[in-house]
Amino acid sequence: MGNPLRIAFEGAARTVTGSRHWIRHGTQGWLFDCGLYQGHRDEADRINRTFRFDPGELDAVVVSHAHLDHIGNLPTLAAAGYGGPIHATSATADLARVMLPDSAFLMERDVAHVNKHARGRPPRKPLYTMADVERVLASLRLTHYHKPWSLTEGVQVETWDAGHILGSAVTVFEFAGNGRKFRLGMGGDLGRAARPILRDPERIPGVDVLVMESTYGDRLHSDAAETDRELAEVVHRTVERGGRLLVPAFAVGRTQEVVATLHRLCEEGRIPELPIYVDSPLASRTTSVYRSHPECYDEETKAALLEGEGEPFGFKRLRYVGSPDESRALNDARGPMIIIAASGMCEGGRILHHLLHGLGNAHNTVLFVGYQGTGTLGRRLKDGAETVNIFGEPVRCRAEIASLDGFSAHADQRELCAWAASLDPAPRTIFLVHGELDAAETLAALLRERIGCEVVIPEPHQEFDLWN
Ligand SMILES: [Zn+2]
Repeated sequence: MGNPLRIAFEGAARTVTGSRHWIRHGTQGWLFDCGLYQGHRDEADRINRTFRFDPGELDAVVVSHAHLDHIGNLPTLAAAGYGGPIHATSATADLARVMLPDSAFLMERDVAHVNKHARGRPPRKPLYTMADVERVLASLRLTHYHKPWSLTEGVQVETWDAGHILGSAVTVFEFAGNGRKFRLGMGGDLGRAARPILRDPERIPGVDVLVMESTYGDRLHSDAAETDRELAEVVHRTVERGGRLLVPAFAVGRTQEVVATLHRLCEEGRIPELPIYVDSPLASRTTSVYRSHPECYDEETKAALLEGEGEPFGFKRLRYVGSPDESRALNDARGPMIIIAASGMCEGGRILHHLLHGLGNAHNTVLFVGYQGTGTLGRRLKDGAETVNIFGEPVRCRAEIASLDGFSAHADQRELCAWAASLDPAPRTIFLVHGELDAAETLAALLRERIGCEVVIPEPHQEFDLWN
């Protein structure tokens, strides 16, 4: 008998947020991802603060990529006693150095705002502070694509490019014991082929068990031409009304892609010249990180750089908004404009005050370019809520609500199926996480038919023996 190998799905089970998977091998235990659960404030707070294990007893953490729903709860883990290494690709580590301080800053500011309007309710505390973030950043250990390293005795780790955001990885853990080997593939989020800047998702070697996302397991994305056409139409409608286009977007990845597309449409004369503001210091810092990691670029981006076509992330029409005062000044600015601001699901960030001031105006448009999780403000708006609460104030929704899915950094149903089916030999079992139940069930049926393997959709905290 070797060391028993177990996995427990502590987060992103039947939902798309809060990725957290607990792997145990003999006496060793580690987490794969420790993401922020984003949703209703009280529920999110409870879920993020609760660990079914003693964080001080964990031996390691390995993370898939720098989106907050995969790394954003690391500081809570550190505050609860975790002091071990946090393994990440070097680009993920650099993005974490930008994203986690921003997350702590927004939490502290959000709590201060809520407490100011508490009207007698007991004061809240932020989930974590900058001191907790500092502990996480000091614990980062860098890994590199295709360079195997040893996690503990008998456990080798290797990463492949997931093509989702800069530094994103699919991780394969290889366990050896008693002359046998077992391979566990852990996907974070899987990207798409032929997107700007990044490489396509890499095919990984065969594994015994695969854990993969299922966000768009029941959907096919629009193609690029259709997305261009829809985006141009929404810009035209908004400009004709004299309104502003508010785009909630993740600062990392999505913002850069939306800006690149708007710029190209403008160059092609398909949308009018109008100011584009990226109201996100995080997005501008992220762009610097993108610049410093050419090892993650696809061949087209590398070639463009070599041929001196200018750097591919700075766009002449773009205006970055720095200070909160500049951000507030946009409220008084006149004329049509486009404002892109985080967070992508409207659960925090500067988009909130733009919505507070802009939702009530029927000339404006709120354009969603990413997935809106259940329970988020973004989902309520997308579902057609007549009134929503922002900073505790009721706001009537009179603005047009529009949505484009072609910007997704997630593989769709066809792409997820093709990637899983490319593994050779085929996995014995696939666990589907990071998807709502309908999406996961649809994908599971397709994978069973196409690959012929067992496909499981774990419940939150459900545990499985994988190997012994
Ligand atoms: Zn992601």
